[in-house]
Amino acid sequence: MSVSWKKNCKAYLEDLIPYEPGKPIEDVAREWGLEAASIIKLASNENPLGPSPKAREAMRLALEKSHLYPDGGGYHLREGIARKFGLAISNIILGNGSNEVILFLGQAFLQEGDEILCSRHAFAVYPIMATMYGARTIEVADPDFAHDIRAMVAAITLRTKLLFITSPNNPTGTLVPEADLRYALENVPPHIIVVLDEAYCEFLDNPPPSIDWMRQYPNLILLRTFSKIQGLAGLRIGYGIAQEPLITLLQKVRQPFNANLVAQAGALAGLLDDDHQQKTKAITDLGRTLLQDSFRKMNLEFVPSFANFVMVRVGGPGAGKRVFLELQKKGIIVRDMTSYGLSEWIRVSIGTPDQNRRFLDSLPQVL
Ligand SMILES: *Cc1c(COP(=O)(O)O)cnc(C)c1O
Repeated sequence: MSVSWKKNCKAYLEDLIPYEPGKPIEDVAREWGLEAASIIKLASNENPLGPSPKAREAMRLALEKSHLYPDGGGYHLREGIARKFGLAISNIILGNGSNEVILFLGQAFLQEGDEILCSRHAFAVYPIMATMYGARTIEVADPDFAHDIRAMVAAITLRTKLLFITSPNNPTGTLVPEADLRYALENVPPHIIVVLDEAYCEFLDNPPPSIDWMRQYPNLILLRTFSKIQGLAGLRIGYGIAQEPLITLLQKVRQPFNANLVAQAGALAGLLDDDHQQKTKAITDLGRTLLQDSFRKMNLEFVPSFANFVMVRVGGPGAGKRVFLELQKKGIIVRDMTSYGLSEWIRVSIGTPDQNRRFLDSLPQVL
């Protein structure tokens, strides 16, 4: 009852509701008595093709060196990223997933009473991070699940420290048009950091020139990850791209060996495997068309997606959770959107053609 350390801990942590991850295959197997191998996970926007063969080989070799600490400065991987995008190594910070770079931003910029701004249905990690530092999250209404950039800029106050823009956005799959991104960059005061989270940018046919913008705006940071198109979610590796002074600041708040040795090796080899990324984009494009066409035929409302997942309305209030559970019994894991305040919706990641078929065959049975 009376835990005496409670008066000493940060009181605002009471309000923190931990992140709800996609359900792991092993949990579903155990809970429903299913064979793990028969279960498909379409819940966390992972790459259904797995890691690139080149990344696998590099990781096998790296395992032999796992008695050594990794290169804390991440030299080879940062140099590889810099080379690929025509940047300097000083423009890049590695994270234990890009999630960790989000935490660095909180660590470096947020104090109790500060505010962050994001769109109403955006990545759940932003408000969690803000709460962790005693800051408030101002969520700006998102008509048709799209960022309302003008409203976001208008919502800036004296307490605003970070403004998050996610394009394509998770969980909605919507794109922020280039003109809106430019509007934000031109109108957000330069003392406020604009965080452009581009976890899914590799799935775009025409990605915005965000790296050019980074060169122009000292308050812009881009977030990228190896978890999505690169298929390395289990390794936890991502990065931020910004001008040198901002990267130098963020480097101060990370632990010395935050990016592990196997992850650095796998990420570098994967980064250079354009073939694997093209294959992934190609099956994603086909799968997205199949899912969206099928939803249309089934008269299900969906949000047209620019990423490797689609959000679809599966009934009235509470339907999302019910469909999520019914699909689970059939060995298909999708994402229930209730924690995002969208209890009528599920989010389904695009899988292999076989996985997409299995999901589409099962869905009508559980509606
Ligand atoms: C998946 C995702 C990330 C990346 O997370 P990692 O920590 O790199 O695995 C970041 N932002 C958004 C919006 C995402 O959906």
